Amino acid sequence: EAGKIAYGLGFKLYAAGGMIRDVMLGQNSIDIDLVVEGDGIKLATAMSEAFQVKIRKYQQFGTAQVIFSEDLTIDIATARVEFYAYPAALPQVESSSLHQDLYRRDFTINAMAVCLNDKKFGSIVDFFDGRDDLDQGLIRILHNLSFIEDPIRILRAIRFEQRYGFEIEKQTLNFLKEAVRQEVLAKVTPERIWEELKHILVEKEASRMLRRLEELKVWPFIFPGVNYWEVDPVLRDLAGSVDLIKEWGFWVPTEKWLPYLIALLHWSNPETARQICERYHLSKRQTEKALAALYGWRETVAMIWKSPEDVKLSQLAKQLMTMPRESYPMLLAILEEDWIKDRFRQLLNTIMDSKPSINGKYIKSLGYRPGPVFKETLEALWQERLDGNIVNEAEEKDFVRK
Ligand code: ATP
Repeated sequence: EAGKIAYGLGFKLYAAGGMIRDVMLGQNSIDIDLVVEGDGIKLATAMSEAFQVKIRKYQQFGTAQVIFSEDLTIDIATARVEFYAYPAALPQVESSSLHQDLYRRDFTINAMAVCLNDKKFGSIVDFFDGRDDLDQGLIRILHNLSFIEDPIRILRAIRFEQRYGFEIEKQTLNFLKEAVRQEVLAKVTPERIWEELKHILVEKEASRMLRRLEELKVWPFIFPGVNYWEVDPVLRDLAGSVDLIKEWGFWVPTEKWLPYLIALLHWSNPETARQICERYHLSKRQTEKALAALYGWRETVAMIWKSPEDVKLSQLAKQLMTMPRESYPMLLAILEEDWIKDRFRQLLNTIMDSKPSINGKYIKSLGYRPGPVFKETLEALWQERLDGNIVNEAEEKDFVRK
């Protein structure tokens, strides 16, 4: 449809980038990345009218986004064409602007396009042999200065390599190492690094990617002061642990990257961890979670290891309450052995099951004004329940009234 609208405006339209790569790999892709030879903003405006959807325009870049829903936006970029030369029948002029757009991209596998206009609909544009690299499983840059031009591509190369189980092509790897040696990453803003890092930390193969960052000597630019090898064993086990926590129903869908960040900071000294959080502008709440996990994991793990006779359930629950949920996967990974992991699961279940059945509403109904005392009372009640001193709702109410 977009192709037809573009055609009507006299523009050539292409789908490009990661979407083509994923389709060729037989995978679904949600990102839609369009390149128009013509005027991207005009096309977006026409699409917004045709589909009755909102758009966002970025005049200075000639790009726009068409927003179909929260999960589905289409990016439209303008590949500039000299208008006097268009739409004259000079295919080399038209494709040279597409060529320029694709040449600015990171890797050959991300630099293919498919024509969406009527006549050539479906034909593949592959100036840099991306298809071959895709078949051979190679990550290859488009020109020698690529990593210098945009050092973020170093992280992207590692991400795609590990995501698809590909290899960074030999020359490309040399250029990557050389760029790292020249410390090009020191010049990138933490904001840009964090943007890419977040993508890494939510990937299925996040641990392998982190390990590769270390191998290729990128790690110190990303996590200065953090010793990778101290956290390697835990990171390796983290994806599995996240899955277990999900399976057990203790997963809180939140920032998916946070369990990884917590895990990779847990051996650092608090000052280093705080600096990393600050560098990447984590919120106060996120920073507190990372630090709480760092301070609390040893004690928590020690308590889980103790035999149930030696530690009161209420004590254990209290300790666990100091740990953010996002640290549970890390705790599991540290616990290592299956039987003790299972004990952890049982403990969590027991703790959740003994949650008092009354809540703040009941306290309010007694005429109290909401305040910190509510939380304290409910926590104290929970403790009593855990230790079996209170067993039913009537006793709970009694306790609260007192
Ligand atoms: P993912 O599957 O992770 O979304 P993607 O390839 O779609 O991967 P995006 O970050 O959405 O990644 O980028 C879309 C396209 O834009 C890429 O396929 C690539 O062509 C281009 N691109 C993105 N970042 C860069 C960069 N730093 N340098 C050059 N080209 C880039």
